[in-house]
Amino acid sequence: MIILKHRMNYNEQTGIHNHLPYNIPYSFTLKLSPFFGKVLSITSVPSKACPGNCIHCNFGKTSYQTVDRQSFYALRHNSTLIKDFIDQHNDLDYIEISGPGEVGLNAELNLLIDDIRKATNVPVHIDSCGYLCWRISVHNDFCKADAVSVRIDTADRETYHKVNAVHQQIPFERYITGIRQFRSNFKGDFYVKTCLVDGVNTDDASMYKLNALLKSLSPDSIFVSSSQVHFDNKVYPVLDHDRLVALSTRLGPHVVLSDIIHQCA
Ligand code: SF4
Repeated sequence: MIILKHRMNYNEQTGIHNHLPYNIPYSFTLKLSPFFGKVLSITSVPSKACPGNCIHCNFGKTSYQTVDRQSFYALRHNSTLIKDFIDQHNDLDYIEISGPGEVGLNAELNLLIDDIRKATNVPVHIDSCGYLCWRISVHNDFCKADAVSVRIDTADRETYHKVNAVHQQIPFERYITGIRQFRSNFKGDFYVKTCLVDGVNTDDASMYKLNALLKSLSPDSIFVSSSQVHFDNKVYPVLDHDRLVALSTRLGPHVVLSDIIHQCA
């Protein structure tokens, strides 16, 4: 297990936050990640368009729950801006395509990746939740990236509906089968994000099943975090560090724990 000790301060997270003109509402953020290094993060979906409505989501409640891909922004018109921004920062370690919401909903993802490829050789990381991997177009777009992260909080169907509250068109089997097929075709780095909510997905049986599922997917790393959750009129406190380490140990040797545990999305 790797425990990342780096703690970001506000300035590091938001060093440059350059909003594009109001009618082209993309935003770029430069951030320092203890795992990925210096990252240019490109927001590619409006807040919060997502097939899920996870109880631990850092972006709050889902306002637009959908499984349909859409052209949210005029991505094609941003090619020059993307290139200019990349040109100004020639020491990037990764370019990340991220939320707040599910990246796979952006129907122009493949065009965005093409634009980035034309501008730079910096590897592209897609920070997804993985709920749309069963869609062939999403599968194909994700395969164009160098690294992809997906979310798996549980291996249990009931807990999945409770924790992730995903759109009814994505039953557990469809979600996991999509991730499994993507994993078997994807040649890049494959990461899993897991949020542990004490008393919800942390009992012995849940951890045992989750470990078996993750093992079968052979992720390069598993990013484990915890978050305080308000759910069903109850407050589930964030796991303390020792308990988080103890539980994470059960998920195998590829766990990466960060002391930056405010970000569960
Ligand atoms: S954690 Fe990811 S999948 Fe879950 S609601 Fe938030 S953005 Fe959507």
